[in-house]
Amino acid sequence: MDAAFFRAWLAEAGAVVESQRDHLTQLDAAIGDADHGINLARGFTAVSAALDQASTPTPGSVLTLAGSTLISKVGGASGPLYGMAFRQAGKALGDAAVADLQALAGALEAALAGVQKLGAAREGEKTMVDALAPAIGAFQKALAEGAPAASALAALAAAAAEGAQATISMQALKGRASYLGPRSVGHEDPGAASTALILAALRDAARAGR
Ligand code: ADP
Ligand code: MG
Repeated sequence: MDAAFFRAWLAEAGAVVESQRDHLTQLDAAIGDADHGINLARGFTAVSAALDQASTPTPGSVLTLAGSTLISKVGGASGPLYGMAFRQAGKALGDAAVADLQALAGALEAALAGVQKLGAAREGEKTMVDALAPAIGAFQKALAEGAPAASALAALAAAAAEGAQATISMQALKGRASYLGPRSVGHEDPGAASTALILAALRDAARAGR
């Protein structure tokens, strides 16, 4: 996977975030302040503009620029958290011209570590971590079993979607939704939902590239 692949992923993620913008905002209306879809759509539009303007010859440089852009353009909790995730992923990929599946797994782990360092959320606290962590686990399991890229990425996306669904029954213990206490139960976490969309876009970018 080269820099063009990672740019294609972010373009696909931006398209899906835009098409699901109102859905994500409605999820946030239920347990937050109704801005998550708006925040992310603005962020990915800015990412696309930044990638059009700058030279990003390596996968690491693509993800690092995306992360910095999200940090500077997106308010709320999710901008810094997603920004950190993409920046740490980019840093993990270093200056290499291509990333193989193992490198991608390492980058996703670095992203999760960055989110947890900044936000201090553990699994089960109804955040984006509840989509990202099981997705990485499923991806690594698939790689350990020798799965080809397409099925490993399908496992990643499926586990993220399941993880997002599983937040419905959780009580929020981090972020704005935690102010609702037990009343946060019964709603899907918007950040977990958007993480599942972004990881589905990764799967789809790989499909399109074959
Ligand atoms: P805000 O809550 O500031 O309005 P957004 O609505 O854009 O920001 O994003 C809300 C999402 O951010 C939540 O659904 C949750 O997934 C994620 N989030 C909030 N706080 C944390 C945290 N401490 N760790 C991980 N994710 C978090
Ligand atoms: Mg919000």
